[in-house]
Amino acid sequence: MSLFDKKISRRQFITGSVAATSGIVALGGSWPWLPKMFYRPGIYNYPMLSEGQAAEDVRYSVCRQCRSDCGIEARVVNGVLVKLDGNPYHPNTTEPQLDYATPLDKARMMPIAHSLCARGQAGRQSVYDRYRIYYPLKRSGPRGSNQWKAISWEQLIGEVTNGGTLFKDVPGEESRQVEGFRDLWKDGQGPNIPVDSQHPDMGPITNQFVSFWGRAEPGQSDFIERFATAFGSVNAIPHVSICEVSHHVATRTSLNGKINMMKPDFKHSEYVIFFGLNIYQANFPMQTVGRKVAAAASGEGSNPPLKYVVVDSRTPQGVQRALRHVKVKPGYDGAIVMGMIRHIVEQHRYNTTYLSIPNPDAAHQAGELNFTNATWLVVDDPRHPLYRQFLTAEAAGLPTTKKAAPSSPPAVVIDAKTGKPGLAEQVDAASLWPSGDLSVQPVQVNGIPCRTGFQKLYEEARAHTIVEYAELAGIREDAIVTLAEEFTSHGRRAAAEFYRGAVKHTNGAYTGRGIMTLNFLIGCVDWAGGYIVGGQPANNMGTYPSAPYNLTKWPTPKYTVPAGVTISREGTFYENTSLYRDAVAAGKNPFPTPRPWLPFSFGVWQELFGGAWNQYPYPVKILFMHEANPLFSAPPGMSGYPDEELPLFRLIKDLKKVPLFIVSDILISETSSYADYIVPDTNYPEIWGTLPGFPTVPTSVMGVRHPVIEPLTAKTPRGAPMCMENFLIDVAQKLSLPGFGKNAF
Ligand code: SF4
Repeated sequence: MSLFDKKISRRQFITGSVAATSGIVALGGSWPWLPKMFYRPGIYNYPMLSEGQAAEDVRYSVCRQCRSDCGIEARVVNGVLVKLDGNPYHPNTTEPQLDYATPLDKARMMPIAHSLCARGQAGRQSVYDRYRIYYPLKRSGPRGSNQWKAISWEQLIGEVTNGGTLFKDVPGEESRQVEGFRDLWKDGQGPNIPVDSQHPDMGPITNQFVSFWGRAEPGQSDFIERFATAFGSVNAIPHVSICEVSHHVATRTSLNGKINMMKPDFKHSEYVIFFGLNIYQANFPMQTVGRKVAAAASGEGSNPPLKYVVVDSRTPQGVQRALRHVKVKPGYDGAIVMGMIRHIVEQHRYNTTYLSIPNPDAAHQAGELNFTNATWLVVDDPRHPLYRQFLTAEAAGLPTTKKAAPSSPPAVVIDAKTGKPGLAEQVDAASLWPSGDLSVQPVQVNGIPCRTGFQKLYEEARAHTIVEYAELAGIREDAIVTLAEEFTSHGRRAAAEFYRGAVKHTNGAYTGRGIMTLNFLIGCVDWAGGYIVGGQPANNMGTYPSAPYNLTKWPTPKYTVPAGVTISREGTFYENTSLYRDAVAAGKNPFPTPRPWLPFSFGVWQELFGGAWNQYPYPVKILFMHEANPLFSAPPGMSGYPDEELPLFRLIKDLKKVPLFIVSDILISETSSYADYIVPDTNYPEIWGTLPGFPTVPTSVMGVRHPVIEPLTAKTPRGAPMCMENFLIDVAQKLSLPGFGKNAF
């Protein structure tokens, strides 16, 4: 009988008094202590009772109800969190934020708005959720049966470390041997044993420990990475692919390969185009973007009011103050972008001076903040070994300089003054159009036909007419022209911004690169009012010379097997592996591969699951999931719960493909209900963390999350709160992993 087949009152439902609907209540009859595992009885104060209450304490920390990491002001009465507000010292919540010299008691009484969004204010509900887990749980029935027993911390650590017939009481698993951490670590020899002796570049057997996380943020994710690395596994995989990886890949590959995110400098911008961005309801930091856009559009400050356009297939809240809403066909933002590029180039509405600068020194001399490779020559001869790559000095017959690094041979340009080839690093201004304005004809250098990056861009843009681009995008032709003209009418005080709506498509990374190119065309990158990188965070890993602890280093023996390839095959070119070479050497077609390889991507959950299912490039032995719920949020499992035919359900039910499945979380979720063990975790008001800001705030920001209440989880035998970090520490110490315990650094 489903919950909704029976008429029950809301009150009955909330109190769980309808026994037939609540497995927990039913189980509680057998084990009276069981409900206490999930529900902490007690009377909590309501927010309205907290103001001025005698025992009230106000503590500052950082929210984690979403990844925006806004500062919080937590009101605590008798150790109970009763209310959450914005932290007036934090720029996400207060503008301008309070001077750090302001004493705490004064800060508390400041009559200024320091906001948290509704979700942030509701954070105490996740702390005191009645389904919080306080003790380690081990399944006592088949996977997914939701039959659990509470076990001691010692039993948890002992069983997952040593393995054995861990589920011999479960029908069908009486003799199933489960390998624990020790079976992979092998007293420190595991990292020296290849997981595939024919292909040692896949890494050691310890790569069969695969960890992934959903909401671990800096401070926590660093910890999981540290454990994985100490154990000898490259598999520490964040959730980026189910979030925004195409945005990050587009940004990285358009810049220096390291920066994932830029933002408009809203305060000084005059014009912004938002491609697929839900400005008043999402993005980073969600409430801060909304507040800044609303303020700028209202004309607060010294600039003319910000005008902005929303390009979105839906009608998000952000259209409220927008100049225009361009309703694009889903997945066709790129057509608008290429149409805009075509118009901007043909009408010479780009920043010629900026784009002509081919190196950083020349940019500095010219008062520019950065430079592009728009003038660098690209080999255009299909028979040449450098076809579609930058022409090198050597190929051009030019003498190289001392500056040249083997990994980046000096590029070649056509000097705008002399019209002759020269090294990009030695020329102050180079030609965008070496064959004449708007000509895409190649120029010959040392007998090699070449074109500039800018010519290549224009050649792509003119592959379609603006009418065709408009038809593809499902909009009017004049909308593209209007966007292009408006965007190029504000000098550097304009930006083209994008997020998931525009790029969570199979063409997303390319669309994102096109949008990044719009910013390069007007030269607004990192300028006031333009598209900015923001401030650098503090060096929380202590990698600078005088830091007392370098958290990225620890004593590690030299292993004889390469670190290897991740289970998701991200960050690796298949063509560089022995799998590819061996297939070619054997005269076999190396394609298709059992699963795709993703050299430019990172944090790819879908392929973590796909790799585990296909056991490619190796089988998984221990799967560790931290605060994630892919059955609810990732394509292989979402939208169909509880359809056990979906791929992710089949994977995590499969005892051969996932022999040991450990989860650490604050609650039992759709996914963790299939775990073998659940390690109770602490929630964000109970933990530490170091949270860098986002470029939405142009200065350096580093939030420090620290406990505002005592952790609610039970204590380990050494008196520490049960949580992910202490679980990994205790497993590490049991195995004597390097980097944990004595001599950790
Ligand atoms: S936007 Fe800020 S306050 Fe709201 S949930 Fe996210 S981090 Fe918390």
